[in-house]
Amino acid sequence: MRARNSDKAINLLFNVTPPLFEDYRDPILDALRRRSIDARASLLGDIAHQDVDYIIHATGGPITDFAPFSNARAVLSLWAGVEKIVGNATLTQPLCRMVDDGLRQGMVEWVVGHALRAHLGMDRYVCQKPLTWEQHVPPLATDRSVTILGLGELGSAAATALVQLGFRVTGWSRRAREVAGVRCLAGMEKLPQALASAEILIGLLPQTPETIDLLNAERLALLPKGSFIINAGRGTLIEDDALIAALDSGRVAQATLDVFRTEPVPSGHPFWSHPGVTISPHVAAATRVGTAAENIADNIARAESGTPLMNLVDRTLSY
Ligand code: NAP
Repeated sequence: MRARNSDKAINLLFNVTPPLFEDYRDPILDALRRRSIDARASLLGDIAHQDVDYIIHATGGPITDFAPFSNARAVLSLWAGVEKIVGNATLTQPLCRMVDDGLRQGMVEWVVGHALRAHLGMDRYVCQKPLTWEQHVPPLATDRSVTILGLGELGSAAATALVQLGFRVTGWSRRAREVAGVRCLAGMEKLPQALASAEILIGLLPQTPETIDLLNAERLALLPKGSFIINAGRGTLIEDDALIAALDSGRVAQATLDVFRTEPVPSGHPFWSHPGVTISPHVAAATRVGTAAENIADNIARAESGTPLMNLVDRTLSY
């Protein structure tokens, strides 16, 4: 990686939609300026391909062929999930994904909120019409087992928050992990064990060839009867038909889904009308301009000083 020539402004190409360009341009330029880096922001067509130093990327941007940007030192994604770009064969530049405090805190709040909703049976009283005086005392968190699929940046933060509330938390990942207070399991052979104790199952896995349809009918059948599913990773994790069948049979009591195979969920999809499904329109953890601009500026500053980039995507693993 070449060291920065401090006299020269660097060129950022925003491969994003026009509204995102408006939202992110000034915060990123300001964050770079605070790091003594002068930068210019362009959209496709405003700058020669070979002059681009960094590409700021979000799904929906016009560039699909990254090959002409032969001097670009990195492609920096504004989103945490990179499944739509990671397989692009023209992308030979390093690809970094978004990992920041805004995403982490947002996901912790959303997961804890929905886990507590399931744990306390809140819908019973919030949605019950007409209201009746029926007392259903929930167990304490110490008597509730929660499994989180995915123990990465977001999964481990959510796991830690749930441990702090007293839940018995199991986490599952590809490689062996250690998270304080969490029973950590790794690898396909441990998945049945992770599912068997999941009274509340939380999905925080990326979309990769290995995770697509991971939760099929056979694996959903391993869940304790009446379990709750909360999925905020990617919608392809769970086979839609198998989930509907598991809800109908009572194996799964309720599914709160923030991510879907097709977004927005098409009208007429059974999720819209199923009483056991809550549709949350991909709002679990949004990228926030303030924290994301700092992350992008930090990474560019690293590259410019010859320090290795953060949050590099491993192309061989697709995440
Ligand atoms: P991350 O740090 O890359 O963590 C991914 C986790 O999944 C890791 O623990 C990884 O295992 C595990 N994993 C991946 N493939 C696996 C496999 N085949 N078997 C078992 N475990 C596997 O990602 P993150 O930042 O936590 O984000 C997770 C996902 O959340 C993102 O990819 C994105 O799709 C989604 N997301 C959703 C929203 C939303 O608003 N709904 C917002 C942000 C992100 P290792 O630890 O062994 O690597």
